[in-house]
Amino acid sequence: GANGHLHFAGQDTVALAKQYGTPLYLLDEDYIRHQCRVYQNAFKKHFGPTSRPLYASKANSFKRIYEIMKEEGMGIDVVSSGEIYTALQAGYDLSHAYFHSNNKTDRDIVYGMDNHIGYFVADNVEEIKAIEAEAGRRGIKQKVLLRLTPGIDPHTYEAVATGKVDSKFGVAIETGQAARFVEQALAMKHLKVLGYHCHVGSMVFDEEGDVYQNAADIMLVFAAEMKAAHGLAPEQLNLGGGYGVRYTESDPHIDIEENIRLLSAYLKKRCDELALPMPAILMEPGRSIVGAAGMTLYTCGTVKKIPGYKNYVSIDGGMPDNPRYALYKTNYTCLLANKMNEKCDFEASVVGRCCESGDIIQEHVMLPASVGRGDTVAVCTTGAYNYSMASNYNRLPRPATVMLSGGKSYVAIRRETFEDLCACDL
Ligand code: PLP
Repeated sequence: GANGHLHFAGQDTVALAKQYGTPLYLLDEDYIRHQCRVYQNAFKKHFGPTSRPLYASKANSFKRIYEIMKEEGMGIDVVSSGEIYTALQAGYDLSHAYFHSNNKTDRDIVYGMDNHIGYFVADNVEEIKAIEAEAGRRGIKQKVLLRLTPGIDPHTYEAVATGKVDSKFGVAIETGQAARFVEQALAMKHLKVLGYHCHVGSMVFDEEGDVYQNAADIMLVFAAEMKAAHGLAPEQLNLGGGYGVRYTESDPHIDIEENIRLLSAYLKKRCDELALPMPAILMEPGRSIVGAAGMTLYTCGTVKKIPGYKNYVSIDGGMPDNPRYALYKTNYTCLLANKMNEKCDFEASVVGRCCESGDIIQEHVMLPASVGRGDTVAVCTTGAYNYSMASNYNRLPRPATVMLSGGKSYVAIRRETFEDLCACDL
């Protein structure tokens, strides 16, 4: 802006920080809706009318987001009874929901069925036995997808690479266990096996287009083998989530529509070659729907200079509202929102306020040398896996989430109070 303030979604972030207080999560609702439409349109155009994107709600789960997904006609994936509960509070129709998790408890299974969840993405043999038993008790036929590990290394952070053979998720094709999994699932009277699921990992840029194609290829070859062995032609193939977003200027741009166009051409070709009917394609984007829609605003406190060593800029939040650097050493772009016109020639680590040396948002950040108490620090691209991973470490109340839309702002999640911190203490 002309006043040297950082503007986000067309709004002055310094004014927003003043109005709502800090730390503060901002979410650009219009951008979220835009991303949903990019996926929906690309799916309809390239994968066909029965294919659909599902919002991976673990990326950021709260009532308003499920209302937006409902309004946008998006399916969702959920990974816990808590996410199911939240979606229900938003009036989301769970017949469009897919229930993930590598360890659904018996209570999760009961809760999912009590609430008529559309699909279980069954992770392992033990789980299909538990789903079969509960479906049998109810006299229903539960729709399931079987989660398989295609043995792909998507070259992302170790903690978010999930499609490798030794992953804790799913059943490996390479070891022969997946074939046995299918056989056992098909023998169960109360399961309707609709097809397969895989998720290679998160923060995947797939610039060559090969990661998803390789995963799809392994899944389709396996599906053709299962068709020959058991006559099962999958109605649905879910290729998971995972497209990356730009945390820094050096991260590449992804053209989602183009990736989907190329992937669909590849899938059609391989289905023809393998004599498989083209299944409905599902994907579960989380980060690429909400990640770049987010920004966190903080107030700068202490600036500590250790001559000959390093400098610290301390903010009024930290790892409790954004644990991603502590978990994965992830990159972020940090800006001094009220001094955008000043030269950035002061190198510092932007750190949180917790009693923990690993409480870091980002290192080697270039900021104006005048940075000091009361300035507004903005951390970009925090819409995914920040609020949903947030904690109350050091008894810090979680920030509010303010939605930005059409030049207006409103609170979607209120700031936690000290009373909230003790709400469960007896
Ligand atoms: N689907 C599954 C099974 C996942 O585990 C994840 C995230 O880890 C996603 C979808 C969403 O991934 P992303 O947010 O990277 O799109």
